[in-house]
Amino acid sequence: MRVRAKLVLDRSKKLYQEAQKHLVGGVNSPVRAFKGVGGTPIFMARGKGAYVIDVDGNRYIDLVGSWGPLILGHVPLDVLNQVRRVLRKGFTFGAPSPLESELAQAVKKAYPSIEKIRFVSSGTEATLSALRLARGATGKKRIIKFEGCYHGHGDSFLVSAGSGAATLGLPDSPGVPEEFAALTINLPYNDLHAVEEAFKRFQDISGVIVEPVVGNMGVVPPKPGFLKGLRDITRQHQALLIFDEVMTGFRVAHGGAQELYGVQPDLTTLGKIIGGGMPVGAYGGRADLMSQVAPEGPIYQAGTLSGNPVAMAAGLATLKDLSEPKLYQELEEKAAYLEEGIRRAIQKTGVDAVYQRVGSMATLFFCGHGVENYTQAKDANRQKYAKFFWAMAQRGVYLPPSQFEAFFLSTVLTQDHLKKIVRAVQESLSETQLV
Ligand SMILES: *Cc1c(COP(=O)(O)O)cnc(C)c1O
Repeated sequence: MRVRAKLVLDRSKKLYQEAQKHLVGGVNSPVRAFKGVGGTPIFMARGKGAYVIDVDGNRYIDLVGSWGPLILGHVPLDVLNQVRRVLRKGFTFGAPSPLESELAQAVKKAYPSIEKIRFVSSGTEATLSALRLARGATGKKRIIKFEGCYHGHGDSFLVSAGSGAATLGLPDSPGVPEEFAALTINLPYNDLHAVEEAFKRFQDISGVIVEPVVGNMGVVPPKPGFLKGLRDITRQHQALLIFDEVMTGFRVAHGGAQELYGVQPDLTTLGKIIGGGMPVGAYGGRADLMSQVAPEGPIYQAGTLSGNPVAMAAGLATLKDLSEPKLYQELEEKAAYLEEGIRRAIQKTGVDAVYQRVGSMATLFFCGHGVENYTQAKDANRQKYAKFFWAMAQRGVYLPPSQFEAFFLSTVLTQDHLKKIVRAVQESLSETQLV
């Protein structure tokens, strides 16, 4: 693949300098600052299909997709048209409007465990609302989460969190009172025994929240029986099982991880894809639980822009496109092709690396063993990933700027794109090997 003699990022550099005067760290979300790979954050100007184009005019095949939402690629025509159509009629009403029920039905159809749903404006809002509901409904205080999982930046979740917190090595955040943190029980992912022990030790566990496939310490699949085990244990102890499918929902399968692994949670949180690139989150589940949320019940949660027509239209148009039956199969074939190419490249170059994938999300871990939990994820060589990231950028492929994040494939990737990516991986791994 053509290597740019040097990746020119002059305008990005200028914009970053300026941004640092006004925005914290020059960014509005930490992982964008490229601390995980060094160098200047690449400022984006526009996206088109499988490509993202930066402010210096460099074009990249985009394997970030805004961290997951853009499963149809950038600016898909159907979504654009629907958003355009509603925009003229008003951006937000702060009153009920027709598309909210339509999107609710589209989600419910794919997620039989969701009988009722509430839309919010981000994944963070979805998970913290779901946790409030779990506590309110069970009358119990504690929550179990797993190290390396990321559930947004709510206080209770910022204890050994993944994603940006993992990238920056900030597992526990100042500003979270220890009294809050004490109510969060942090356990190793894929360790059912630890969950059993925790339930023996504490009587007041309201629920278990889990990324059913982890994306936020890099991609780590659940071991066979792990999710089913969580289902059994939570049932036995009258605690709720919350699947945080903000990333995996409509990603690893149309019906998310719960469809893929055949385990039904009590509550599900969604985000990313269901907003089609607009700010949307949602939580939903059993009707008897959801009915405890205001105005049907006493557990309070609200949002000025929740369910606004623009976001609902983008989500609805996206889910309509995703209801095409062959689509996930095709995406799986593309992802499998890429996996095979990358595995061959790893073998050929002899780099200590493993490629972990579930559906169209994957991570290339620079370590010599498979990754089942956060302790193992941290063995990965970040310097090598950084080198690899920039080698790929130079070859026109944009990857997540952190070892602990996932690659996301989109439906608009063609065979030609995939071949280019494989070539770039092969060359970049050889280069990485020299460090
Ligand atoms: C992205 C993500 C969140 C947070 O969503 P935001 O929209 O960034 O607040 C929560 N949980 C998981 C699993 C995520 O991947």
